[in-house]
Amino acid sequence: MDIERRTFLKATALGGAVGLGLFDLGEARAELRTAKILRTTETRSICPYCAVACGVIIHTIGDKAKNVTPAVSHVEGDPDHPTNRGTLCPKGATLRDDIDNPNRLMVPKVRRPGSDHWEEISWDQAVAGIAKHIKDTRDRTFVAKNARGQTVNRNPGIAMIGGCTDTNEFNWLQMKMMLGLGVLYRDSQARV
Ligand code: SF4
Repeated sequence: MDIERRTFLKATALGGAVGLGLFDLGEARAELRTAKILRTTETRSICPYCAVACGVIIHTIGDKAKNVTPAVSHVEGDPDHPTNRGTLCPKGATLRDDIDNPNRLMVPKVRRPGSDHWEEISWDQAVAGIAKHIKDTRDRTFVAKNARGQTVNRNPGIAMIGGCTDTNEFNWLQMKMMLGLGVLYRDSQARV
């Protein structure tokens, strides 16, 4: 690498200043954080990447006027969250790139039987389609009695798994619903 003499002297002077403690890096970092979250709205959420389910705070900037689209300006670990107490692993620390990613899927899509492409549908259509598949599958596979004639009311044609961002309350609800449908194969990443 070709480093000019002037650049080299600047770099070594800066390194010396840090080494001698002339700059307080902790203070500089705190200033940087303050600047990043100045005038932002905080939203608490959960990192979606793995089962640890760390708490995050998403900072959104915007003046809350109806004609301004809020933009995410910073994402950090939630210090009040019992799982991670403010820390994030490198994956969680890049969450902002995930939120702003142009490839992010924002609407439901369906690939119909025999089709070679995905089609955008509305959320109402997606919910109605899922409900229809559940009803059809349950009607087709429901077992009211076992081979001995004992009542079992089970539904072996459906399985359910919860994601890592599901809260205890959601898991309670989904478990109730699945039990009501007779679904035996179910699990959740119940670490939140
Ligand atoms: S921050 Fe890292 S450890 Fe925590 S939930 Fe996200 S991916 Fe998992």
